[in-house]
Amino acid sequence: MKFTLYMPTKVFYGKGCVKEQAKEFKSFGNKVLIVTGKSSGEKSGALKDVKDVLTSLSINYWIFDKVENNPSLETVFKGSLLARENSVTLIIAIGGGSPLDAAKAIAALSTNNIEPVELLTTSIKIPSLPIIAIPTTAGTGSEVTPYSILTAKQFRTKKNFYSPYSFPTITFLDYQYTCSLPNQVTIDTAFDAFSHLLESYLSIKSTPQSNIYAIEGLKAFSKCLFAISNKNFTNEIRDQLLYASYMGGLAITLTGTTIIHAMGYSLTYYKELSHGHANTLFIGEYLRFNKQTVEEKINKVLTILKFYSITELETYLLKHVGEKPDTSQEEINKFATLAMTQGSVKNNPTSVKESDIIKIYQKVLLR
Ligand code: NAP
Ligand code: ZN
Repeated sequence: MKFTLYMPTKVFYGKGCVKEQAKEFKSFGNKVLIVTGKSSGEKSGALKDVKDVLTSLSINYWIFDKVENNPSLETVFKGSLLARENSVTLIIAIGGGSPLDAAKAIAALSTNNIEPVELLTTSIKIPSLPIIAIPTTAGTGSEVTPYSILTAKQFRTKKNFYSPYSFPTITFLDYQYTCSLPNQVTIDTAFDAFSHLLESYLSIKSTPQSNIYAIEGLKAFSKCLFAISNKNFTNEIRDQLLYASYMGGLAITLTGTTIIHAMGYSLTYYKELSHGHANTLFIGEYLRFNKQTVEEKINKVLTILKFYSITELETYLLKHVGEKPDTSQEEINKFATLAMTQGSVKNNPTSVKESDIIKIYQKVLLR
């Protein structure tokens, strides 16, 4: 056996954990930048809890609430200027994957004298500012991963950077912050978490430990399938979804993702599909493509989820996400070339050529 394990994020999980663990905010100096989306901080209630805690500890804070969905290099650069101007010593990220990923980039740009695009082209040399991450969606698991996925016009796609310095130092996971999510965002993000669990479990990089996280997360996700169908998101279901998402984050920290994520990025960049929606469209064909290589594992996933076949699972998933976008063969060729530039392609259980990716895109988008 051979593996490495580095998952340094300190986790507080449970209802009310931010206020209960207020003392944890004390060890990072008294100047903080809060990075959040336009409305998620407020709507979730997390921003109020954090502001209350900081005020009670006499910690000064600035708020950068300009993070858009699928954050751009331009946005994270603006955030880093605010961090530098005020000499902050801690970033608190509140929101879905977009603000959490933006915070990782802002934290790195605040200490490293590099151009934003260099986040994606060089390795980070100087430790980033510490990050406290508070997710308000249950999907990306970004609160425990070292990954930050950014929209880069230079590359006409989304690209990720990761560094050992980009793991949040602390995360607070409280399902109450996800209760304000609209139903469709809840479902898209839940399916993103499922995709992480599935891709990690089937990845050539999967390890006995990553499989423990993947299976644990799949079991939690399986408890939510009926609620997703009925759009009946009780507190218990929100808690299970958050837990599944967190397990997905731990799992992909060890393995990365595979071709689903590599293929989904273009549908987000060019067709403006949400990250979870984009990924979900490919899950059925991804499973068929990999069936021969990892049949036993696929059967185990189907058993946990209580589906008889890949088709039954695919039908369930597609029923709950939006339509596939209109796409031409020419666009598919371009998307396939871009997908092949993503490192995650190499983690796929069955080795993949560009022509395979084209075929999967065709089956999913043209049929
Ligand atoms: P998101 O882009 O962060 O948020 C989607 C929408 O949900 C936004 O409009 C957001 O509003 C809203 N929202 C968030 N929390 C809310 C709440 N509690 N109540 C009401 N509205 C809320 O979505 P996401 O799926 O969590 O993150 C997607 C991003 O994460 C993508 O860029 C993806 O590539 C990345 N990702 C990262 C990793 C990783 O390991 N780092 C893994 C997978 C995906 P606001 O605009 O107000 O925030
Ligand atoms: Zn994802």
